[in-house]
Amino acid sequence: MTTANSNTRTLLRGARVLLQQELLDDGQPRDVLIVGDRIAAIEPAGTIQTADRVVVLDRHLLCPGLINGHQHSHEHFQRGRTENLPLELWMNLVRTRVPVPLTPRQIYLRTMIGAIESIRSGCTTLVDDLALGPAIDETRLDAVIQAYGDAGLRALIGFSMMDRPVVDSFPFVEDHVPAPLLAELRAMPRPSSADYLRLVRTRVEAGLHPMSSRVSVLLAPSAPQRCSEAFLMAIRALADELDLPVITHVQETRLQVVTGQLMYGSPMVEYLDRIGFLKPATSLIHAVWLNPREIEALARSGATAQHNPWSNLLLGSGVMPVRELLEAGVNVSLGSDGSCSTVTANMLNVMGTAAGVAKLRGDDPERWLSAREVLGAATSGGARALGFGNELGVIRVGARADFFACRTDRISFTPLTDAVRQLVYAERGASVDFSMIAGTVVMESGVLTTIDEAALLSEIEAEYRELESRYAAAEAATLPVLDAVRRIYLRSLACTIPADTWPARLSAQASR
Ligand SMILES: [Zn+2]
Repeated sequence: MTTANSNTRTLLRGARVLLQQELLDDGQPRDVLIVGDRIAAIEPAGTIQTADRVVVLDRHLLCPGLINGHQHSHEHFQRGRTENLPLELWMNLVRTRVPVPLTPRQIYLRTMIGAIESIRSGCTTLVDDLALGPAIDETRLDAVIQAYGDAGLRALIGFSMMDRPVVDSFPFVEDHVPAPLLAELRAMPRPSSADYLRLVRTRVEAGLHPMSSRVSVLLAPSAPQRCSEAFLMAIRALADELDLPVITHVQETRLQVVTGQLMYGSPMVEYLDRIGFLKPATSLIHAVWLNPREIEALARSGATAQHNPWSNLLLGSGVMPVRELLEAGVNVSLGSDGSCSTVTANMLNVMGTAAGVAKLRGDDPERWLSAREVLGAATSGGARALGFGNELGVIRVGARADFFACRTDRISFTPLTDAVRQLVYAERGASVDFSMIAGTVVMESGVLTTIDEAALLSEIEAEYRELESRYAAAEAATLPVLDAVRRIYLRSLACTIPADTWPARLSAQASR
């Protein structure tokens, strides 16, 4: 994938800059010099004179690019099609009983929906946990890689890997899924575990490693309950061998704690700890329902807990115990999740939600999350989660040149009192008008520079009109699955979970 020429010198002139891991803001304008894809110098404004190109950013706030640890590009055509369904019911409408096949061009356009929204809302790095379909068709993957390549995003692509039928990741299926439907769901074709591992290895050997390529692959087992232990450990071994980050969905819901107890005799993070799966550069997506032993295991192993507050709200999953994780020394990153559930992948919205919902956790305001802590999770926390250490998500000399900038003469920042609080609580993208990724300018003066945004949006809209009835038919055919899973969901509510699990939901009783 293209990055800036290694000798190109680009000067960003005159912006107020959030410096270092601490996001220091002294209000002073600075010059930031980028050579190739790295930050070469940060000096008082007007000090640096020589560059091949100068971008004037006075009246701007320059921020480290936001890192979205978790998106699903295969959901973008379905944004806004569902509402008010808990995860276990909703997810069947993404992986419908009858799939809706797309052409490579449609997949390219679908990927662009998330890419464009991400750049426009300050995201410079995203992890795309991509479902490839019933069989691995590499032309589909190539369309996704092409889209991120063209848009200019830093993207790490995983493949939502599983070696169990999705239906068998739920408990009590024999009791609640009618036998013919259960047989049909179990027989649905899916790639083999060997196919998945071969795909990742081949693409890394072709150069798509996150440390060396702007568009790359990582390892993404979908969830422990959707994978055999042998597959999980084969993934762990490949990650260790190739030095790749790992992401996996864990204990997003109460039903998943129940599932863990039935499958493994314990909640799932305890299980992952027991089998040696937890390591640094390993992100547990969601991790909402945790007990103290699990928080301790995350801290001890160096794994990351990835907070997806907007997704957790819209699917009714609950609120992660972020303060308890931070106090234990666990790295916390942020993710949007897929837009079929969240409708938007906007990371500014994710940050505002993370800081806002934290105020519901307890009566001690000293323990609520601050805007600065949340911005840290979206930048340096995200970089650490993906194995970039302090090379990404921070504005300092030597780091990778990934930034976005907001105009400070727009309403979110007027009057300018506290740049970080205004960014997190007020800004949702309307002031974002500049983005640089891997040393290349991808948005300037509010215009995406590497793609024709208007033409793409128009083509996306036209393609969706063609697809709409097929999505509706696929969803309608899936309703019997939802009915069965609804019975499982209701039954799980009567199952107990460990008494020391952090409460993640407001009960109906408490909210009266
Ligand atoms: Zn997800």
